[in-house]
Amino acid sequence: MKWLPENIYTWRIFYKTFDPGQESLREAICTLGNGYLGTRGAAPECDAMSVHYPGTYLAGLYNRLKTRIVGRTVVNEDFVNCPNWAFLTFRIGEEEWFSPAASKIVSYYQELDMKAGILNRKVLTQNWRGQKTVIDDYKIASMDNPHILAMKYKIIPQDYDDQITIRAVLDGRVRNTGVRRYLQLNSQHWKNPKLKDYKKERLTSLSMTTSQSKVQINEVSRVRLFSNGKEIRPMRKVFTVGGNVIGEEFKISGHKKKPIIIEKVVAIYTSKDKKVKSPLKKAISTAKSAPRFDGLAKKHKNAWRKLWKKVDIKIEGNTFSQKMLRLHMFHLLQVGSPHTANLDVGLPARGLHGEAYRGHIFWDGIYTMPFYDFHFPSISKGVLKYRCRRLPAARKLAKEANYKGAMFPWQSGSTGREETQVLHLNPLSGQWGPDYSNRQRHISFAIAYNVWNYFKRTGDLDFLRSCGAELFLSIAHFCSSLAKYSPKDGRFHIEGVMGPDEFHEKYPHTKKAGLKDNAYSNFMVVWILDRAVNICSILPPKECQTLFRKIGVTSADIKRWNKVAKKMNIVINNKGIISQFDGYFKLKELNWGYYREKYKNVQRLDRILKAEGKDPDEYKVSKQADVLMIFYLFSLKQIKTVFNQLGYKFNKRILQNNYEYYIKRTSHGSTLSKVAHCFVAQKLGKWQKAWELFQDVLESDFYDTQGGTTPEGIHMGVMGGSIEIVLGSFAGIRIGRGMVHIDPNLPDGWKVLDLKFCFKGNWIDLRATRKKATVTLLRKGAKEPHLRVKLYDKLYDLKLRKPIKASVR
Ligand code: BGC
Repeated sequence: MKWLPENIYTWRIFYKTFDPGQESLREAICTLGNGYLGTRGAAPECDAMSVHYPGTYLAGLYNRLKTRIVGRTVVNEDFVNCPNWAFLTFRIGEEEWFSPAASKIVSYYQELDMKAGILNRKVLTQNWRGQKTVIDDYKIASMDNPHILAMKYKIIPQDYDDQITIRAVLDGRVRNTGVRRYLQLNSQHWKNPKLKDYKKERLTSLSMTTSQSKVQINEVSRVRLFSNGKEIRPMRKVFTVGGNVIGEEFKISGHKKKPIIIEKVVAIYTSKDKKVKSPLKKAISTAKSAPRFDGLAKKHKNAWRKLWKKVDIKIEGNTFSQKMLRLHMFHLLQVGSPHTANLDVGLPARGLHGEAYRGHIFWDGIYTMPFYDFHFPSISKGVLKYRCRRLPAARKLAKEANYKGAMFPWQSGSTGREETQVLHLNPLSGQWGPDYSNRQRHISFAIAYNVWNYFKRTGDLDFLRSCGAELFLSIAHFCSSLAKYSPKDGRFHIEGVMGPDEFHEKYPHTKKAGLKDNAYSNFMVVWILDRAVNICSILPPKECQTLFRKIGVTSADIKRWNKVAKKMNIVINNKGIISQFDGYFKLKELNWGYYREKYKNVQRLDRILKAEGKDPDEYKVSKQADVLMIFYLFSLKQIKTVFNQLGYKFNKRILQNNYEYYIKRTSHGSTLSKVAHCFVAQKLGKWQKAWELFQDVLESDFYDTQGGTTPEGIHMGVMGGSIEIVLGSFAGIRIGRGMVHIDPNLPDGWKVLDLKFCFKGNWIDLRATRKKATVTLLRKGAKEPHLRVKLYDKLYDLKLRKPIKASVR
């Protein structure tokens, strides 16, 4: 296979100035992570302040706190900001300590090398006495050993000889203050700090425990100094502040043009780490035995090289697409890496990059899973197992709401209970209002959908037998119990739910939360109940019966499942427009022109309308794809089958009509929205529109197009969604009837698309142009004796390393 020419530019994100106003966004974009932890790309010399926010988060590390607010007590489980491991600065003589926001910056360059996972900064600074210093520092979150964070910090005096003091700190004064909207809530998660100086080993440690979840974190720091290529051991002064800060200071003589290198390695272990008896001891031994930064970086780069070898998507003809897709894959892998597969965690909607949505896990996996399923099925499996382990909690939730089976929470954290807040702050009006978003039952449907697709793509029967089938069927049981039969029309209905469009929480002028017959939800219920039959037929017959007994499904229940799947209600008008929910067509139209003119950015129309004293429930305005989710997730053929089964007429222009109807009424207040719209536009052959939407998808986080959300954490859904657009739409990869279908359709300007993906253990390479495609089986999976692919609608047998070539007809 011939690789495309390497373009360095597309592997790097760089900034050529220091811009305090952009710093929080850059910190999110330059976050380093390894699936076990994430640390924001903040300057090492800073504390949390308006310009900088040096947050560090560990996958699955949450803590619950209570706050009294507007007369009631609210409880929130937060994604805990861990002690700042990175702090390091210096001063010349008795001058001020260096800090980018407070010191004079003569020149500045920051670069994230995505191929290597290294963040580098080159700064030229000058103090008030005119002394100039170059700082050249490198940071990694080791992808080789996920417990290691490391930094190499080079100081080069430019025009002076003077004494330089270096200060390196482990700072436990951290609170959760990364999201302005949450500032009125309690944010102090850590207690019982313990500091220790290990004189002989020249190590310092900071241990603290979260107040409610009782997780103990241990950070052990080792600081080494080098000059003239040799290690130096200047006097080391250790100090502590307020019982939760421990630091070291070194005084050395700096000489003109002679670099001083400081290497700081921090090992992190917590009491949650499996198979680690004493996390503190383990952190000490890890920090003590760590090689020098370059040695750590070499192993780290090697680990990244292995990851990129599997996932990289190469594009010839559009450097921006290339670069952004790499940025997205880079972050997806920093949140869900092979290290994540062994943890009991889900993938937080905002990554390990910030505190937005408190590190909670939503339905966004429906957008991100294709990336993992096709490249790292073990990560998908790990994430699905996180749900399996929370089946008891989901059963409890279902029972409390008078349903059967398993109902998963809209927002999930450590335990699997519902973490959605009950009150929500509208930052435009400053008002707290009720939050009904936990009525989004489609989170459970997304989990079932992900189980099914994981199985289709991997053929992992062991997973299905060990917990996947139980997960799926428990959700199916819940689905059926949601539906209530009405003798009036002989159909089943679902009340009190919210669809993906969060602007509609209830009917206007009512107090009861939720809506009736959200079309997307009802469609998903039918699809799940249909697939339940497939799941049973895959399992050995006895196993299915045992499973049904275990989860309390009787033969009467199964009969009901059947009936629901044939008689579910979906409201459709005579033009084939699917009503988002029952009553949607009766809502008022919004004067979009007026609002666009007045507010320019109308993405969060809900907040705008509420701040004007109006109720978004009264209008035909959607935050994101809702009805169109059906067309995003399913083929027209699948949709037709469901419609026929329900006894509805299938309008041939259903896709076109619904797309045109809803896109006009959607504000794209969630970054997920444009992913679905792009995919659907592409299905419709609206290439230009699809391309525009794809550009927006690519720009979402890099340019923070929502205006302020990315600094609080990247959006996993949009990042995963961009990859799904490439895989599922531009490359046209689809699994149907146990076979891979490939039907590439490259956007204008993309000359070549080259990628690899894994189907049931077989690694397949696809290289496509706008006219031709070559498919090669690179590695054979053990499971399938014959591998057949359908390329541009023609069937081929794929043999190892024997490329097949075809052209568009
Ligand atoms: C979207 C949800 C999404 C959540 C987390 C919200 O703004 O409306 O669909 O799951 O963000 O990304």
